[in-house]
Amino acid sequence: MDLQAILNTIFDEMQGQSDRGAVADYIPELAQVSPTHFAMSICTADGQSYHVGETAVPFSIQSVSKVFTLALALGRLGDQLWTRVGREPSGLAFNSMVQLEHENGIPRNPFINAGALVVTDAILARNAPREVLGEILRFVRQAAGDDDIHINHRVAKSEQATGHRNLALAHFMRAHGNMHNAPELSCGVYFHQCAIEMSTRQLAQAGRFLMGGHAPSRLLSPARVRRINALMMTCGHYDGSGDFAFRVGLPGKSGVGGGILVIAPGRASIAVWSPGLDAQGNSRLGTVAVERLAQATRWSVFG
Ligand code: GLU
Repeated sequence: MDLQAILNTIFDEMQGQSDRGAVADYIPELAQVSPTHFAMSICTADGQSYHVGETAVPFSIQSVSKVFTLALALGRLGDQLWTRVGREPSGLAFNSMVQLEHENGIPRNPFINAGALVVTDAILARNAPREVLGEILRFVRQAAGDDDIHINHRVAKSEQATGHRNLALAHFMRAHGNMHNAPELSCGVYFHQCAIEMSTRQLAQAGRFLMGGHAPSRLLSPARVRRINALMMTCGHYDGSGDFAFRVGLPGKSGVGGGILVIAPGRASIAVWSPGLDAQGNSRLGTVAVERLAQATRWSVFG
């Protein structure tokens, strides 16, 4: 299978797409990003990598960071984490509040914002935010095998200034005893983890620990790798998760920066970036591109 030829064909098709979606504008810094960027990278289990487009340009990984913090939290707290956050798809928007009220401050899953805030709060424990952010960065850099990965502080500040919904979610969970640190602290760490920037080359590299298969990762046990993949499949695209599973058939986690990390278990780690989003806040062309890749490679976990 000629993966480079497949990527080149996908790239050509994406260049001709006129409906690229709209960049996220609720975080002012992200509204500045041009919707014309496109990049896609694949790292395969046999150590090869394939790239097309602007694969060295760093972008805001946003909610893709939730995969790394979940891995960190599971490694540290183990299954205890599941007393504070569920494992069911929400069927609602990433920043929805209504379910939390009905479900007593226990978020449905670790990938909606409320769930990710709980995960970050759990990692924070009683440590200093700066130290914990350092730990998150170290984990991501180690996963990528690349130290040149940084936080964009302008993006973090921009989200901090406008992140009222996230603060509201955190305060609500604090009222239910499910937020152990001051909401401003946990949200502060969360805004900074979301503002980590990576290129698709770095993100595809960083996703290798989730490939499983013959080369188990030193970062996380195979059982936990399987579980994170299950959650990515069922919850990784918010209320678009069912559609992503239907179209692509692979576990994936999107971010409002337009990036998606997709895992073909035992085969490959894939990163795609196109900043224009669909109505659910997932990369529009990114989704089409991985749909094409899954068709061409027959990598869908459903055969
Ligand atoms: N930082 C974003 C927020 O909390 C992440 C959302 C996303 O990437 O889906 O609103």
